[in-house]
Amino acid sequence: MIQDLNSQQPLVSDIKTTWYSVLKKLNKEYGNEIYNSWLKNLKVKMLENETLVFSVPSKFIRDWITAHYVDKIIFYIEEENSNIKRVKIIVDAMLVADQGSVNNDIFIEKNRKSKAVSYTQQSDDWPLDERFTFEKFVVGHPNELAYASAKRMAQPEKFDFNPLFIYGGVGLGKTHLMHSIAWEIKNHNENAKVLYLSAERFMFQFIKSLRQKDTMSFKQKFRSVDVLIIDDIQFMMGKSSTQEEFFHTFNSLLDLNKKVIISSDRAPSDLDSFDDRIKSRLSWGLVADILPANFELRHEILKKKAHELSLKYENKINIAEDVVVFLAKTIANNVRELEGALNKVVTFANLMNRAIDVELAQTVLKDLLRSSNRRITIDEIQSKVANYFNIKVEDIMSAKRIRSFARPRQIAMYLSKKLTSRSLPEIGRKFGGRDHTTVIHAVKKVEQLKTESNKFDEDINVLTQIVTSS
Ligand code: ADP
Ligand code: MG
Repeated sequence: MIQDLNSQQPLVSDIKTTWYSVLKKLNKEYGNEIYNSWLKNLKVKMLENETLVFSVPSKFIRDWITAHYVDKIIFYIEEENSNIKRVKIIVDAMLVADQGSVNNDIFIEKNRKSKAVSYTQQSDDWPLDERFTFEKFVVGHPNELAYASAKRMAQPEKFDFNPLFIYGGVGLGKTHLMHSIAWEIKNHNENAKVLYLSAERFMFQFIKSLRQKDTMSFKQKFRSVDVLIIDDIQFMMGKSSTQEEFFHTFNSLLDLNKKVIISSDRAPSDLDSFDDRIKSRLSWGLVADILPANFELRHEILKKKAHELSLKYENKINIAEDVVVFLAKTIANNVRELEGALNKVVTFANLMNRAIDVELAQTVLKDLLRSSNRRITIDEIQSKVANYFNIKVEDIMSAKRIRSFARPRQIAMYLSKKLTSRSLPEIGRKFGGRDHTTVIHAVKKVEQLKTESNKFDEDINVLTQIVTSS
Protein backbone atom coordinates (compact mmCIF):
# COMPACT_ATOMS: atom_id res chain seq x y z
CA MET A 1 0.00 0.00 0.00
CA ILE A 2 1.35 3.37 -0.91
CA GLN A 3 0.14 6.51 0.76
CA ASP A 4 0.86 9.53 -1.29
CA LEU A 5 1.50 12.52 0.87
CA ASN A 6 -0.25 14.79 -1.52
CA SER A 7 -3.53 13.00 -1.10
CA GLN A 8 -5.89 13.97 1.67
CA GLN A 9 -5.43 11.07 4.03
CA PRO A 10 -5.13 11.74 7.76
CA LEU A 11 -1.73 10.12 7.82
CA VAL A 12 -0.30 12.93 5.78
CA SER A 13 -0.34 15.49 8.52
CA ASP A 14 0.94 12.94 11.04
CA ILE A 15 3.98 12.25 9.00
CA LYS A 16 4.68 15.83 8.27
CA THR A 17 4.46 16.57 11.99
CA THR A 18 6.77 13.67 12.73
CA TRP A 19 9.26 14.85 10.18
CA TYR A 20 9.05 18.39 11.44
CA SER A 21 9.94 17.29 14.97
CA VAL A 22 12.74 15.11 13.63
CA LEU A 23 14.15 17.99 11.64
CA LYS A 24 14.17 20.16 14.71
CA LYS A 25 16.15 17.53 16.61
CA LEU A 26 18.56 17.08 13.75
CA ASN A 27 19.10 20.80 13.50
CA LYS A 28 19.80 20.94 17.21
CA GLU A 29 22.20 18.02 17.05
CA TYR A 30 24.19 19.03 13.98
CA GLY A 31 23.86 22.79 13.93
CA ASN A 32 22.71 25.16 11.21
CA GLU A 33 25.57 24.56 8.87
CA ILE A 34 25.04 20.86 8.32
CA TYR A 35 21.32 21.28 8.53
CA ASN A 36 21.28 23.84 5.73
CA SER A 37 23.86 22.10 3.60
CA TRP A 38 22.44 18.62 3.74
CA LEU A 39 19.45 17.77 5.87
CA LYS A 40 17.19 20.48 4.56
CA ASN A 41 17.36 18.82 1.17
CA LEU A 42 15.31 15.89 2.35
CA LYS A 43 11.73 16.19 1.15
CA VAL A 44 9.19 13.71 2.44
CA LYS A 45 7.56 11.93 -0.46
CA MET A 46 5.45 9.12 0.82
CA LEU A 47 5.02 6.33 3.28
CA GLU A 48 5.41 2.96 1.71
CA ASN A 49 4.47 0.22 4.17
CA GLU A 50 6.85 0.99 7.02
CA THR A 51 9.31 2.90 4.90
CA LEU A 52 9.37 6.66 4.81
CA VAL A 53 10.51 7.76 1.39
CA PHE A 54 12.40 10.99 0.87
CA SER A 55 13.64 12.63 -2.24
CA VAL A 56 16.72 14.73 -2.67
CA PRO A 57 17.92 16.71 -5.70
CA SER A 58 21.11 14.80 -6.44
CA LYS A 59 22.81 11.48 -6.07
CA PHE A 60 25.69 13.09 -4.30
CA ILE A 61 23.47 14.58 -1.62
CA ARG A 62 21.78 11.24 -1.21
CA ASP A 63 25.10 9.41 -0.80
CA TRP A 64 26.40 11.98 1.60
CA ILE A 65 23.31 11.89 3.80
CA THR A 66 23.33 8.11 3.72
CA ALA A 67 26.96 7.93 4.72
CA HIS A 68 26.80 10.50 7.50
CA TYR A 69 23.40 11.14 8.90
CA VAL A 70 21.07 8.33 8.10
CA ASP A 71 21.21 6.43 11.37
CA LYS A 72 20.48 9.53 13.41
CA ILE A 73 17.58 10.23 11.09
CA ILE A 74 16.20 6.75 11.60
CA PHE A 75 16.80 6.97 15.29
CA TYR A 76 14.82 10.18 15.67
CA ILE A 77 12.06 9.05 13.36
CA GLU A 78 11.58 5.90 15.40
CA GLU A 79 11.55 7.97 18.53
CA GLU A 80 8.72 10.06 17.12
CA ASN A 81 6.79 7.42 15.30
CA SER A 82 7.44 3.76 15.89
CA ASN A 83 5.39 2.76 12.85
CA ILE A 84 8.15 3.88 10.60
CA LYS A 85 10.93 1.34 10.47
CA ARG A 86 13.02 2.36 7.53
CA VAL A 87 13.83 5.28 5.35
CA LYS A 88 14.58 5.36 1.69
CA ILE A 89 16.11 8.25 -0.16
CA ILE A 90 15.51 8.64 -3.85
CA VAL A 91 16.99 11.12 -6.25
CA ASP A 92 14.52 13.47 -7.82
CA ALA A 93 16.00 15.70 -10.48
CA MET A 94 12.83 17.80 -10.50
CA LEU A 95 13.86 19.30 -7.20
CA VAL A 96 16.87 20.99 -8.67
CA ALA A 97 17.34 24.63 -7.81
CA ASP A 98 14.26 24.90 -5.73
CA GLN A 99 15.12 27.39 -3.08
CA GLY A 100 16.97 30.19 -4.71
CA SER A 101 20.46 30.97 -3.68
CA VAL A 102 21.55 30.30 -0.16
CA ASN A 103 24.79 31.85 0.83
CA ASN A 104 26.07 31.13 4.25
CA ASP A 105 29.77 31.65 4.04
CA ILE A 106 31.42 33.89 6.45
CA PHE A 107 32.90 36.98 4.99
CA ILE A 108 34.11 38.86 7.98
CA GLU A 109 33.53 42.46 7.29
CA LYS A 110 34.34 44.26 10.49
CA ASN A 111 36.73 44.38 13.31
CA ARG A 112 35.62 41.99 16.00
CA LYS A 113 35.83 44.71 18.60
CA SER A 114 32.76 46.31 17.20
CA LYS A 115 30.00 44.12 18.55
CA ALA A 116 27.94 44.27 15.43
CA VAL A 117 30.00 42.08 13.21
CA SER A 118 28.39 42.20 9.83
CA TYR A 119 28.55 39.62 7.14
CA THR A 120 28.02 40.07 3.48
CA GLN A 121 25.59 37.62 1.98
CA GLN A 122 24.92 36.25 5.40
CA SER A 123 21.59 34.60 5.81
CA ASP A 124 22.27 32.34 8.74
CA ASP A 125 23.31 33.00 12.25
CA TRP A 126 26.70 31.42 11.95
CA PRO A 127 29.45 33.82 12.96
CA LEU A 128 33.03 33.05 13.85
CA ASP A 129 33.36 32.28 17.50
CA GLU A 130 34.37 35.39 19.42
CA ARG A 131 36.11 33.27 22.02
CA PHE A 132 38.41 31.66 19.49
CA THR A 133 41.26 34.15 19.51
CA PHE A 134 45.00 33.84 19.96
CA GLU A 135 44.78 35.48 23.39
CA LYS A 136 42.51 32.72 24.59
CA PHE A 137 44.65 29.94 23.20
CA VAL A 138 46.96 28.29 25.72
CA VAL A 139 50.27 27.28 24.22
CA GLY A 140 52.21 24.23 25.31
CA HIS A 141 54.58 21.72 23.85
CA PRO A 142 51.91 19.70 21.97
CA ASN A 143 50.55 22.69 20.05
CA GLU A 144 53.41 25.19 19.90
CA LEU A 145 54.32 24.60 16.28
CA ALA A 146 50.71 24.95 15.14
CA TYR A 147 50.29 28.06 17.25
CA ALA A 148 53.49 29.72 16.04
CA SER A 149 52.72 29.04 12.40
CA ALA A 150 49.14 30.24 12.77
CA LYS A 151 50.44 33.44 14.36
CA ARG A 152 52.89 33.85 11.52
CA MET A 153 50.21 33.33 8.93
CA ALA A 154 48.13 36.07 10.55
CA GLN A 155 50.85 38.69 10.19
CA PRO A 156 50.19 41.35 7.57
CA GLU A 157 53.66 41.27 6.03
CA LYS A 158 54.82 38.81 3.41
CA PHE A 159 54.78 35.25 4.52
CA ASP A 160 57.45 32.65 4.20
CA PHE A 161 55.27 29.62 3.68
CA ASN A 162 51.94 28.95 2.04
CA PRO A 163 49.64 27.08 2.54
CA LEU A 164 49.50 26.33 6.22
CA PHE A 165 48.16 22.87 6.93
CA ILE A 166 47.17 22.18 10.55
CA TYR A 167 46.19 18.70 11.60
CA GLY A 168 45.32 16.86 14.79
CA GLY A 169 42.62 14.87 16.57
CA VAL A 170 39.22 16.20 17.54
CA GLY A 171 38.87 18.88 20.16
CA LEU A 172 42.53 19.85 20.16
CA GLY A 173 42.13 23.43 18.98
CA LYS A 174 42.30 23.40 15.16
CA THR A 175 39.14 25.39 14.65
CA HIS A 176 40.14 27.70 17.48
CA LEU A 177 43.42 28.51 15.72
CA MET A 178 41.76 29.02 12.35
CA HIS A 179 39.23 31.45 13.74
CA SER A 180 42.08 33.21 15.54
CA ILE A 181 43.88 33.72 12.24
CA ALA A 182 40.75 35.18 10.69
CA TRP A 183 40.17 37.58 13.57
CA GLU A 184 43.75 38.71 13.68
CA ILE A 185 43.99 39.36 9.97
CA LYS A 186 40.84 41.41 10.23
CA ASN A 187 42.31 43.35 13.13
CA HIS A 188 45.30 44.29 11.06
CA ASN A 189 43.30 45.15 8.01
CA GLU A 190 39.59 45.71 8.05
CA ASN A 191 39.37 45.46 4.31
CA ALA A 192 41.00 42.09 3.96
CA LYS A 193 38.64 39.62 2.39
CA VAL A 194 38.80 36.58 4.63
CA LEU A 195 36.69 33.58 3.83
CA TYR A 196 36.34 30.83 6.40
CA LEU A 197 34.27 27.75 5.72
CA SER A 198 34.15 24.05 6.37
CA ALA A 199 35.01 21.61 3.63
CA GLU A 200 31.43 20.37 3.71
CA ARG A 201 30.25 23.84 2.98
CA PHE A 202 32.75 24.26 0.17
CA MET A 203 31.49 21.08 -1.44
CA PHE A 204 27.93 22.06 -1.02
CA GLN A 205 28.53 25.43 -2.63
CA PHE A 206 30.30 23.84 -5.51
CA ILE A 207 27.68 21.21 -6.14
CA LYS A 208 25.04 23.84 -5.97
CA SER A 209 26.82 25.95 -8.53
CA LEU A 210 26.99 22.90 -10.77
CA ARG A 211 23.31 22.30 -10.32
CA GLN A 212 22.50 25.89 -11.11
CA LYS A 213 24.98 25.89 -13.97
CA ASP A 214 26.72 28.80 -12.40
CA THR A 215 30.22 27.62 -11.71
CA MET A 216 31.59 30.91 -12.98
CA SER A 217 30.40 32.91 -10.02
CA PHE A 218 31.54 30.14 -7.72
CA LYS A 219 35.03 30.35 -9.16
CA GLN A 220 34.99 34.10 -9.04
CA LYS A 221 33.90 34.21 -5.47
CA PHE A 222 36.54 31.83 -4.22
CA ARG A 223 39.31 33.23 -6.31
CA SER A 224 38.73 36.81 -5.27
CA VAL A 225 39.48 36.34 -1.58
CA ASP A 226 42.68 37.42 0.16
CA VAL A 227 42.64 34.61 2.65
CA LEU A 228 40.90 31.28 2.30
CA ILE A 229 40.47 29.12 5.38
CA ILE A 230 39.00 25.66 4.97
CA ASP A 231 38.27 23.61 8.05
CA ASP A 232 38.12 19.81 8.23
CA ILE A 233 39.27 19.03 4.72
CA GLN A 234 39.03 15.30 5.44
CA PHE A 235 35.30 15.64 4.78
CA MET A 236 35.94 16.54 1.19
CA MET A 237 36.09 13.00 0.03
CA GLY A 238 34.93 10.61 -2.56
CA LYS A 239 33.95 13.26 -5.02
CA SER A 240 36.59 13.87 -7.56
CA SER A 241 35.02 16.84 -9.31
CA THR A 242 34.78 18.76 -6.04
CA GLN A 243 38.33 17.89 -5.14
CA GLU A 244 39.39 18.91 -8.60
CA GLU A 245 37.65 22.26 -8.23
CA PHE A 246 39.12 22.73 -4.80
CA PHE A 247 42.52 22.00 -6.26
CA HIS A 248 42.10 24.64 -8.97
CA THR A 249 40.86 27.23 -6.51
CA PHE A 250 43.68 26.38 -4.22
CA ASN A 251 46.33 26.60 -6.94
CA SER A 252 45.12 29.86 -8.31
CA LEU A 253 45.08 31.43 -4.85
CA LEU A 254 48.62 30.27 -4.23
CA ASP A 255 49.66 31.65 -7.61
CA LEU A 256 48.17 34.99 -6.65
CA ASN A 257 50.09 34.91 -3.36
CA LYS A 258 46.93 34.70 -1.30
CA LYS A 259 47.05 32.95 2.00
CA VAL A 260 45.48 29.54 2.29
CA ILE A 261 44.96 27.76 5.59
CA ILE A 262 43.65 24.24 5.82
CA SER A 263 42.87 21.92 8.69
CA SER A 264 42.33 18.22 8.84
CA ASP A 265 42.15 15.40 11.34
CA ARG A 266 45.08 13.70 9.65
CA ALA A 267 48.31 14.45 7.80
CA PRO A 268 48.10 15.25 4.07
CA SER A 269 49.70 11.92 3.18
CA ASP A 270 46.94 10.10 5.09
CA LEU A 271 44.09 11.74 3.19
CA ASP A 272 43.41 8.47 1.43
CA SER A 273 40.64 9.53 -0.86
CA PHE A 274 42.62 12.45 -2.21
CA ASP A 275 44.54 12.45 -5.41
CA ASP A 276 48.33 12.16 -4.92
CA ARG A 277 48.83 15.47 -6.70
CA ILE A 278 46.59 17.24 -4.21
CA LYS A 279 48.17 15.52 -1.24
CA SER A 280 51.62 16.63 -2.23
CA ARG A 281 50.48 20.15 -3.08
CA LEU A 282 48.84 20.44 0.33
CA SER A 283 52.17 19.83 2.01
CA TRP A 284 54.16 22.33 -0.04
CA GLY A 285 53.88 25.01 2.60
CA LEU A 286 54.07 24.28 6.28
CA VAL A 287 52.48 21.23 7.85
CA ALA A 288 51.97 21.60 11.59
CA ASP A 289 50.46 18.99 13.84
CA ILE A 290 48.69 19.40 17.15
CA LEU A 291 49.37 16.55 19.51
CA PRO A 292 46.99 15.51 22.28
CA ALA A 293 47.43 17.81 25.25
CA ASN A 294 49.83 16.46 27.87
CA PHE A 295 49.21 16.90 31.57
CA GLU A 296 51.04 20.26 31.75
CA LEU A 297 49.01 21.74 28.92
CA ARG A 298 45.74 20.39 30.27
CA HIS A 299 46.64 21.88 33.60
CA GLU A 300 47.42 25.28 32.08
CA ILE A 301 44.27 25.32 30.00
CA LEU A 302 42.15 24.48 33.03
CA LYS A 303 43.81 27.15 35.12
CA LYS A 304 43.06 29.72 32.46
CA LYS A 305 39.47 28.57 32.02
CA ALA A 306 38.97 28.46 35.77
CA HIS A 307 40.20 32.01 35.97
CA GLU A 308 37.86 33.11 33.20
CA LEU A 309 34.97 31.38 34.93
CA SER A 310 35.66 33.06 38.21
CA LEU A 311 35.69 36.43 36.43
CA LYS A 312 32.42 35.53 34.86
CA TYR A 313 30.95 34.70 38.25
CA GLU A 314 32.45 37.88 39.70
CA ASN A 315 34.88 36.04 41.95
CA LYS A 316 32.09 34.29 43.73
CA ILE A 317 33.52 30.91 42.86
CA ASN A 318 36.83 29.44 43.77
CA ILE A 319 38.17 26.45 41.95
CA ALA A 320 40.81 24.92 44.17
CA GLU A 321 44.11 23.76 42.74
CA ASP A 322 43.50 20.13 43.69
CA VAL A 323 40.29 20.15 41.64
CA VAL A 324 42.18 21.49 38.63
CA VAL A 325 44.81 18.79 39.04
CA PHE A 326 42.17 16.12 39.46
CA LEU A 327 40.43 17.17 36.24
CA ALA A 328 43.66 17.51 34.29
CA LYS A 329 44.65 14.01 35.36
CA THR A 330 41.31 12.34 34.75
CA ILE A 331 40.18 13.87 31.47
CA ALA A 332 42.86 12.96 29.02
CA ASN A 333 40.91 12.78 25.78
CA ASN A 334 40.65 16.27 24.44
CA VAL A 335 40.37 19.90 25.35
CA ARG A 336 36.69 20.14 24.51
CA GLU A 337 35.90 17.46 27.10
CA LEU A 338 38.16 19.19 29.56
CA GLU A 339 36.23 22.45 29.19
CA GLY A 340 32.93 20.62 29.36
CA ALA A 341 33.96 18.88 32.57
CA LEU A 342 34.99 22.10 34.26
CA ASN A 343 31.78 23.83 33.26
CA LYS A 344 29.73 20.93 34.51
CA VAL A 345 31.44 21.00 37.88
CA VAL A 346 31.00 24.74 38.29
CA THR A 347 27.36 24.70 37.22
CA PHE A 348 26.58 21.87 39.57
CA ALA A 349 28.32 23.50 42.52
CA ASN A 350 26.42 26.71 41.87
CA LEU A 351 23.13 24.98 41.58
CA MET A 352 23.61 22.99 44.76
CA ASN A 353 25.30 25.86 46.50
CA ARG A 354 28.30 23.71 47.35
CA ALA A 355 32.02 24.31 47.44
CA ILE A 356 33.99 23.07 44.47
CA ASP A 357 36.12 20.26 45.83
CA VAL A 358 37.48 17.00 44.46
CA GLU A 359 34.66 14.99 45.93
CA LEU A 360 32.08 17.09 44.15
CA ALA A 361 34.08 16.89 40.94
CA GLN A 362 34.19 13.13 41.24
CA THR A 363 30.44 12.88 41.68
CA VAL A 364 29.64 15.17 38.79
CA LEU A 365 32.02 13.51 36.41
CA LYS A 366 31.10 9.91 37.01
CA ASP A 367 29.36 9.63 33.66
CA LEU A 368 32.03 11.40 31.75
CA LEU A 369 34.76 9.33 33.35
CA ARG A 370 33.02 6.11 32.57
CA SER A 371 32.75 6.96 28.92
CA SER A 372 36.28 8.26 28.57
CA ASN A 373 37.77 5.26 30.31
CA ARG A 374 38.24 3.16 27.28
CA ARG A 375 37.26 3.10 23.65
CA ILE A 376 35.92 -0.23 22.49
CA THR A 377 36.64 -1.05 18.86
CA ILE A 378 34.64 -3.08 16.38
CA ASP A 379 37.66 -5.32 15.73
CA GLU A 380 37.77 -6.14 19.40
CA ILE A 381 34.08 -6.99 19.46
CA GLN A 382 34.40 -9.20 16.40
CA SER A 383 37.28 -11.18 17.81
CA LYS A 384 35.70 -11.61 21.23
CA VAL A 385 32.38 -12.69 19.80
CA ALA A 386 34.12 -15.14 17.45
CA ASN A 387 36.07 -16.51 20.36
CA TYR A 388 32.96 -16.89 22.48
CA PHE A 389 31.17 -18.89 19.81
CA ASN A 390 34.25 -20.80 18.81
CA ILE A 391 34.28 -19.62 15.22
CA LYS A 392 36.80 -17.64 13.20
CA VAL A 393 36.71 -13.87 12.78
CA GLU A 394 36.67 -14.42 9.00
CA ASP A 395 33.39 -16.29 9.39
CA ILE A 396 31.88 -13.28 11.09
CA MET A 397 32.96 -11.09 8.21
CA SER A 398 32.04 -13.58 5.49
CA ALA A 399 28.86 -13.78 3.45
CA LYS A 400 28.08 -17.27 4.75
CA ARG A 401 24.51 -17.49 5.88
CA ILE A 402 24.45 -20.59 8.02
CA ARG A 403 23.01 -19.95 11.43
CA SER A 404 26.18 -20.76 13.37
CA PHE A 405 27.89 -17.81 11.64
CA ALA A 406 24.93 -15.56 10.99
CA ARG A 407 23.83 -15.34 14.61
CA PRO A 408 27.24 -14.42 16.06
CA ARG A 409 27.59 -11.91 13.22
CA GLN A 410 24.31 -10.28 14.21
CA ILE A 411 25.34 -10.25 17.83
CA ALA A 412 28.65 -8.62 16.97
CA MET A 413 26.82 -5.98 14.95
CA TYR A 414 24.44 -5.41 17.81
CA LEU A 415 27.29 -4.98 20.29
CA SER A 416 29.11 -2.67 17.88
CA LYS A 417 26.04 -0.46 17.77
CA LYS A 418 25.55 -0.53 21.53
CA LEU A 419 29.12 -0.24 22.72
CA THR A 420 30.84 2.00 20.19
CA SER A 421 29.94 5.34 18.71
CA ARG A 422 30.34 4.12 15.14
CA SER A 423 27.50 4.86 12.75
CA LEU A 424 25.42 2.17 11.11
CA PRO A 425 27.09 2.56 7.69
CA GLU A 426 30.50 2.41 9.35
CA ILE A 427 29.56 -0.77 11.18
CA GLY A 428 28.23 -2.24 7.94
CA ARG A 429 31.50 -1.52 6.22
CA LYS A 430 33.45 -3.16 9.03
CA PHE A 431 31.42 -6.32 8.53
CA GLY A 432 32.56 -7.16 5.05
CA GLY A 433 31.02 -4.13 3.37
CA ARG A 434 27.44 -4.73 4.33
CA ASP A 435 24.67 -2.21 4.00
CA HIS A 436 23.49 -0.18 7.00
CA THR A 437 20.04 -1.74 6.72
CA THR A 438 21.62 -5.13 7.45
CA VAL A 439 22.98 -3.69 10.67
CA ILE A 440 19.60 -2.27 11.63
CA HIS A 441 18.07 -5.65 10.96
CA ALA A 442 20.69 -7.37 13.13
CA VAL A 443 20.12 -4.97 16.01
CA LYS A 444 16.38 -5.51 15.86
CA LYS A 445 16.75 -9.27 15.60
CA VAL A 446 19.00 -9.44 18.65
CA GLU A 447 16.66 -7.24 20.64
CA GLN A 448 13.79 -9.50 19.73
CA LEU A 449 15.67 -12.69 20.63
CA LYS A 450 16.68 -11.20 23.95
CA THR A 451 13.05 -10.87 24.93
CA GLU A 452 12.17 -14.32 23.65
CA SER A 453 14.90 -16.36 25.26
CA ASN A 454 16.51 -16.11 28.67
CA LYS A 455 19.48 -18.11 27.51
CA PHE A 456 20.07 -15.74 24.64
CA ASP A 457 19.69 -12.73 26.87
CA GLU A 458 22.23 -14.25 29.22
CA ASP A 459 24.67 -14.77 26.32
CA ILE A 460 24.42 -11.13 25.39
CA ASN A 461 24.96 -9.99 28.95
CA VAL A 462 28.02 -12.17 29.36
CA LEU A 463 29.42 -10.98 26.05
CA THR A 464 28.81 -7.36 26.99
CA GLN A 465 30.76 -8.02 30.18
CA ILE A 466 33.59 -9.65 28.27
CA VAL A 467 33.84 -6.85 25.77
CA THR A 468 33.60 -3.98 28.22
CA SER A 469 35.71 -5.37 31.03
CA SER A 470 39.09 -5.80 29.41
P1 ADP B 1 39.12 20.97 16.85
O1 ADP B 1 38.72 21.94 15.79
O2 ADP B 1 40.56 20.58 16.78
O3 ADP B 1 38.23 19.76 16.92
P2 ADP B 1 38.39 23.13 18.62
O4 ADP B 1 39.23 24.19 18.04
O5 ADP B 1 36.95 23.17 18.30
O6 ADP B 1 38.98 21.69 18.26
O7 ADP B 1 38.60 23.11 20.21
C1 ADP B 1 37.70 22.51 21.10
C2 ADP B 1 37.53 23.38 22.32
O8 ADP B 1 38.73 23.38 23.08
C3 ADP B 1 37.26 24.83 21.97
O9 ADP B 1 36.35 25.35 22.90
C4 ADP B 1 38.60 25.50 22.12
O10 ADP B 1 38.48 26.84 22.51
C5 ADP B 1 39.24 24.68 23.23
N1 ADP B 1 40.69 24.59 23.09
C6 ADP B 1 41.40 23.70 22.37
N2 ADP B 1 42.72 23.89 22.50
C7 ADP B 1 42.86 24.95 23.32
C8 ADP B 1 44.00 25.66 23.85
N3 ADP B 1 45.24 25.28 23.56
N4 ADP B 1 43.75 26.70 24.66
C9 ADP B 1 42.50 27.07 24.98
N5 ADP B 1 41.40 26.45 24.52
C10 ADP B 1 41.57 25.41 23.71
MG1 MG C 1 37.16 21.79 14.39
